[in-house]
Amino acid sequence: MKKHNFYAGPSIMSQFTIDETAKAVKDFADMGLSILEISHRSKQFQAVMDEAISLFKYLLDIPQGYSVLFLGGGASLQFAMVPMNMLKTKAAYLDTGVWASKAIKEAKLFGEVDVVASSKDKNYNYIPKDYTVPSDVDYFHYTSNNTIYGTEIRKDPEMGVRMISDMSSDIFSRPVDISKYDLIYGGAQKNLAPAGVTFVIVKDDALGKSGRVLPTMLNYETHVKKDSMFNTPPVLPIFSALQTLKYYKELGGVEVIEKMDVAKADCLYNAIDSSKMFVATVPNHEDRSIMNVCFVMKPEYKDLESSFIEFATARGMMGLKGHRDVGGFRASLYNALPMESVKALTEVMKEFEKSH
Ligand SMILES: *Cc1c(COP(=O)(O)O)cnc(C)c1O
Repeated sequence: MKKHNFYAGPSIMSQFTIDETAKAVKDFADMGLSILEISHRSKQFQAVMDEAISLFKYLLDIPQGYSVLFLGGGASLQFAMVPMNMLKTKAAYLDTGVWASKAIKEAKLFGEVDVVASSKDKNYNYIPKDYTVPSDVDYFHYTSNNTIYGTEIRKDPEMGVRMISDMSSDIFSRPVDISKYDLIYGGAQKNLAPAGVTFVIVKDDALGKSGRVLPTMLNYETHVKKDSMFNTPPVLPIFSALQTLKYYKELGGVEVIEKMDVAKADCLYNAIDSSKMFVATVPNHEDRSIMNVCFVMKPEYKDLESSFIEFATARGMMGLKGHRDVGGFRASLYNALPMESVKALTEVMKEFEKSH
């Protein structure tokens, strides 16, 4: 049976990424060796690294003066590395969920943190509006897509200060005005590559100003100077990332991807909004994520939630269970997920409604 992959992360990869990765695990760049067993300093892997960085810059239209890094440690290490490197006295943070709160917790270890707004009062089911960011902060940090709750900030905020963003779960789903940011980071395992690599886009001249003595590995300058080759980088995930970037270029770039993602999300939200049984957990349409669609059963059908999961799984719908903090269902519609899968899910929802 055809499987439809709605996992939130790690999550669906393009078939191209999987096929090319599988080939390279057998024989990489006609070396007669697996990519798992060659030097990261070989000219063949150096070419992978160089092309991945240059395609990354091309697809996001990254201006001169920025570096793209591929590091280890996940987005979670960036929660600490960002303030360690960039927070001198005070930073502003927007609290839109568990990931944002984790970033706030780490930042507090390094300086004053002004939490400018929070949506915690409603279990993070909306994006705070009407807040201001003090002009004297070193940066304003926000999470662009809140993977767990299905809310998203899809336009670069205009806060009058330098920005830093965790774009783990919506990178390459829209054009971004990189020039407004000092740094953007994310774990790769949602829209880019298998788990194990973290991307960082950083403005070179924003570095080296913290006044702190930093451990070598936790200093962005180390990795900028050595082009992400200070130590052994996550070779295989970087290879896979390159395949995904090639696939994105082939699709036509982020503008095209954004249109596809919006169409997929519209299709599913419409099905939810017009159903008698399901309801979206994010009421404001403009706050709804196009990456993670969270929904539950209406109160009168609440006891059917686990049977729907079973029903859908039996029909090839994988990874639909909602995060424990929200419950219900979460369908992740990352870039690699085809519209066909969204349509299949809406059909299964209709079929379930009819039979109950
Ligand atoms: C998945 C996710 C993280 C955590 O990433 P790790 O690489 O597991 O540390 C952080 N932020 C957001 C928005 C995420 O979706």
